Amino acid sequence: MPEYDFDLFVIGAGSGGVRAARLAASLGKRVAVAEDRYLGGTCVNVGCIPKKLLVYASHFAEDFADAQRGYGWTVGESSFDWASLIDRKNREIERLNGIYENLLDSAGAERIWDRATVSGPHQVALSDRTLTAEHILVATGGWPEIPELPGKELAITSNEIFYLDQRPDHILIVGGGYIAVEFAGIMNGLGAHVTQLYRGPLFLRGFDDDVRRVLAEEIRKKGVDLRFQTNVTAIEERSGGRLRATLTDGSTVDTDQILCATGRKPNTANLGLEEVGVALDANAAIVVDEYSQSSVPSIHAVGDVTDRMALTPVAIHEAVCLVATLFEGKPTAPVHENVPAAIFSQPPVGTVGLTEAQARERFGDIDVYRSRFRPLKHTLTGSDETTMMKVIVARSSDRVLGIHLVGAEAGEITQGFAVAIKCGVTKTQLDSTVGIHPTSAEELVTMREPLADA
Ligand code: FAD
Repeated sequence: MPEYDFDLFVIGAGSGGVRAARLAASLGKRVAVAEDRYLGGTCVNVGCIPKKLLVYASHFAEDFADAQRGYGWTVGESSFDWASLIDRKNREIERLNGIYENLLDSAGAERIWDRATVSGPHQVALSDRTLTAEHILVATGGWPEIPELPGKELAITSNEIFYLDQRPDHILIVGGGYIAVEFAGIMNGLGAHVTQLYRGPLFLRGFDDDVRRVLAEEIRKKGVDLRFQTNVTAIEERSGGRLRATLTDGSTVDTDQILCATGRKPNTANLGLEEVGVALDANAAIVVDEYSQSSVPSIHAVGDVTDRMALTPVAIHEAVCLVATLFEGKPTAPVHENVPAAIFSQPPVGTVGLTEAQARERFGDIDVYRSRFRPLKHTLTGSDETTMMKVIVARSSDRVLGIHLVGAEAGEITQGFAVAIKCGVTKTQLDSTVGIHPTSAEELVTMREPLADA
């Protein structure tokens, strides 16, 4: 008789939890996974996937205008129906939920539709029973947070925006992270008037400063009313379902919806973690070692609940490493360096490696190559959108430390260059790579002169 009911009990069937459960089950381990909300977690239901579908939807108005302005098309009258988009999006999400169900079932993991809490180092409590496992994986993700302010219950978060009955005519977006920026682009592209507020001097803290500056300019050109050093102090209801936000400078904004994209908190409340001795940090994230083990040796955590790097591919990478460590006899620490990322803003951002400020701090002597240009497509449309590309190089070793882009297809371009950076590409090797003409990406292998002031 095995000592425990399961080899691995996973709490949360999101990006990290599903991958760990599937991999461990396919190795022949006895695995259970508990989920109480939606299969696939944040990414599939209220994150990456529905967000990117809305981004696609939001590009068409500009595409129609570009076709007519620059490319000889006569575009008939067009109109947009929010309800139809949301309905199609919902059906796709349901299809994906089904795929996740099949993936877990075919791997042989036992699915449990219930909220689970930790009730001992090897024990998990469900609503009607208690189960035991040699290892417990907490992969419960994160949850949006709205700061305390009068009327905060009138605001929505990214969870609700995906299910609104109608597109607001005006939306106030509060926050300066990538989620706020992406929704500003989505709503603007879908025809809403958008005001975005950020309390700091420039949004997207942590990204390269040129990216932050250039993106702010481009977003303003597209008509978003972007205001920095401004925050909301109170929200009140007005007649006709309208809302009024009072801002830090005393002015007010009347609007139809207020989206607070003001941060996410790890999902650790009332999970029984502190009671069994699992250490949490000041932000309530589970503290883990380099192998994703918590302060209780049989309890592990991956993904957003650990607050390391809140991205789906990172949660998956951490899960893959954990399964190798626990069940394949190969202790494997996830690597959080040179993780590429995109912001699906308009225009989008792609980034990998160090920002200029980080590179300067760590390496001192660096060369910065930067180019800003009008992409070929817009020579005919008359659009004043520009593309910015930046390569940061360590002078002593010639190694490329970071690549940052703002412009069409930035995410697609960055994925390839991320492989090169991971392999330790040098600037000389970039220079000896033949470009693909005519593309925007060829700029990354043809920039020859570093900035004089770098
Ligand atoms: P989650 O996917 O959040 O899964 C956690 C699961 O645990 C949930 O299903 C939850 O219901 C369940 N759960 C919680 N508590 C319990 C319990 N007690 N019992 C049972 N089940 C429980 N990342 C990207 O890489 N690219 C993007 O473009 C991107 N866009 C995003 C856009 C938005 C609007 C948001 C909010 C996030 C986005 N992310 C994106 C981040 C990405 O969604 C997360 O990093 C990823 O989902 C984290 O995976 P996870 O496994 O840690 O948690």
